[in-house]
Amino acid sequence: MISERQLLWWYRHYNRCCFGGRLPKFALISFHGDKHESAHSFPSMIPPVIRINRRLRAFPWAAHVALLHEMAHFKAMGHGRDFQREIDKLYRKGAYEGLL
Ligand SMILES: [Zn+2]
Repeated sequence: MISERQLLWWYRHYNRCCFGGRLPKFALISFHGDKHESAHSFPSMIPPVIRINRRLRAFPWAAHVALLHEMAHFKAMGHGRDFQREIDKLYRKGAYEGLL
């Protein structure tokens, strides 16, 4: 089981390794119980918020993928070209090693 505290640790790790430390130093990361959504984020809130479905607690690799997805939204809204570019960068920097 992955905890919110672990997710925050991974947020900081991914920010350093894969986003060049350009994301906010702190984000509020918590689990939610909405059945219809795996994760969502509010990048413009202060501090920014990432919420991940609590069902993913039992699947750390999926929680990591969801976390990286929401972190990429801090750089690009929607799922268009800018977002795809962010995901490509993460892949090239090795963020998904062992996850996919
Ligand atoms: Zn998205």
